[in-house]
Amino acid sequence: MGRKFFVGGNWKCNGTTEEVNKIVSTLNAGEVPSQDVVEVVVSPPFVFLPLVKTSLRPDFHVAAQNCWVKKGGAFTGEVSAEMLVNLSIPWVIIGHSERRLILKESNEFVGDKVAYALAQGLKVIACIGETLEQREAGSTMAVVAEQTKAIAAKISNWTDVVLAYEPVWAIGTGKVATPAQAQEVHFELRKWLQENVSPEVAASTRIIYGGSVTAANCKELAVQPDVDGFLVGGASLKPEFIDIIKSAE
Ligand code: PEP
Repeated sequence: MGRKFFVGGNWKCNGTTEEVNKIVSTLNAGEVPSQDVVEVVVSPPFVFLPLVKTSLRPDFHVAAQNCWVKKGGAFTGEVSAEMLVNLSIPWVIIGHSERRLILKESNEFVGDKVAYALAQGLKVIACIGETLEQREAGSTMAVVAEQTKAIAAKISNWTDVVLAYEPVWAIGTGKVATPAQAQEVHFELRKWLQENVSPEVAASTRIIYGGSVTAANCKELAVQPDVDGFLVGGASLKPEFIDIIKSAE
């Protein structure tokens, strides 16, 4: 089963209304491959989701950057999966390393969030990745396997999951993983899915790379056999995001 190339843009905690309108205008004017070739999803901060959803071209979709782990209620400051569904937001990013590390979201908490979001009908970009210290200690695979296991333990259907491998040392640092480094981890992750979930899930689940992807380095990463797309941070705020989408071809 073919895996459609996926390009996500994580705008993080950036933007004013004016800046968001400018980014959307640039995206709307961009010439990119058809939806049969690439799935494009941009993730603005919560407050801009309705604006982006209504002004963005129909072949691009939107994602929230997080959602609460269970039904909404007395959880000040949180946004529930039900609210996203109510606003027809189709996607959510869960387990980004900035949330895991700064806000101390554990593997188990991330697994619970993925399961709850899927159960409400959202599609999930689930992020995993090792720190520099963990890579240097030779524990990259053990770390990402543990993070994936915590998700796999809570879900039975992977159809609406995209797994984003984002080495923490490459996020926002300008230090991109080499194509060989990315391919090695993606290959091992697919093998992990094959052995621990099922060969079907391993063959069909998109594993995308994130970490300092730019127009300059995306092509050599995109041709790696187990790299099914990207989650892009900094460069998703710039016109070069269009060039990154084009690497799907
Ligand atoms: C990210 O935050 O998901 C990310 C990959 O950021 P950047 O592209 O800026 O490294």
